[in-house]
Amino acid sequence: MLFNKSKLHDFADNIRFMLSGTLLRKPQFLARLLWGSVQGVLLGMPRLRFMDIAIDYNCNMTCDHCSALPMKDPEEKRLTLDEYARIARELQDEGCLIFHFTGGEPLLRKNLEEIIRAFRPERCAISIQTNGWLVTRERLRSLKAAGLDMMCVSIDSGIPEEHDAFRKTPGAHARAVAAVRMAREEGLKHLISTCVSRDNLRSEGIRRLIAFAEETGSWCHFNLAVPVGHWQGRVEMMFRPEDREEMLRMMDQHPCIKWDMRGNWLRVGCGAVKEKLYLSPYGNLMPCPFIQIALGNLRSESLRQVRDRSLACEEFRTYAPLCLAAEDADFVARTPCYLPGNKKPITSYRDVTWLTPVQPSSNPPEQS
Ligand code: SF4
Repeated sequence: MLFNKSKLHDFADNIRFMLSGTLLRKPQFLARLLWGSVQGVLLGMPRLRFMDIAIDYNCNMTCDHCSALPMKDPEEKRLTLDEYARIARELQDEGCLIFHFTGGEPLLRKNLEEIIRAFRPERCAISIQTNGWLVTRERLRSLKAAGLDMMCVSIDSGIPEEHDAFRKTPGAHARAVAAVRMAREEGLKHLISTCVSRDNLRSEGIRRLIAFAEETGSWCHFNLAVPVGHWQGRVEMMFRPEDREEMLRMMDQHPCIKWDMRGNWLRVGCGAVKEKLYLSPYGNLMPCPFIQIALGNLRSESLRQVRDRSLACEEFRTYAPLCLAAEDADFVARTPCYLPGNKKPITSYRDVTWLTPVQPSSNPPEQS
């Protein structure tokens, strides 16, 4: 059996998570969550749910596995506040409930609070991804006042020396751990995210990290290793079926472990394009942070246009049973962003010859 935990249980867990903390004080968000659940779950409509928004590719660390920094292009202009406000409206019209600001390191952006406000946080859940180094009580309070609900701290291992070596930054583990504790004290939801590969899944470092998550009441989000960014072409890191089995066993044992494939509207599988998307600082819209090919650019096209075109491709119309980027060897072998030598994401959808248009005789999208 592919999944030994019921979809209903995962869905209930996600809803419970949303119905707590600062989000309970956002009636407009709660009304949108209810309506989104009706549309996404009961009516089976392809409603957006989650958006990764990279606001900057600058960072104060140079981690071994970083997938984002190679996408930095000094010749491209970052989106302005006005553009973010317009894009936020389009995304919310398509149903998006959660905006996850990432980078690079988003806390390097001095105007992060203004960017958060541009997304109208009273209508949505706002989260940031950080390495924790720049987290201070004052900044957390300022971000919370702007509308921040959750903070997700990247921690690579529960063994401080391993984490620091990975991030090439002595003291990084201590600051990350302190950031999680501070978020908890300040009443923000707190998550830990970590990259798991064939190499480290069964390691002492991951065991200790799970123990820390359980001690602090954090969710521990597993990101599967993907051969992009600094690990471009490293297909030997990708999960095989036995690794997935082991991870699912760990998830049963430790309910704090969460995984992208089980966070959808009551469906299990890859939610790219159907429920989630990734926006680069330059307006490029990608299926997810780990499929680094632009489907279009929101400076020149509407979200609806780009999404409709992308949903009309075999790769994204259904919930693929494997993570396309981290488990599907066929997808990785034919998709240019994973091939050594391609240094930047492909930025024009017209170059995306690897997508397969849906044939007229195809069945309608699955409603699993
Ligand atoms: S490709 Fe993998 S990481 Fe990306 S959305 Fe699909 S399941 Fe998630």
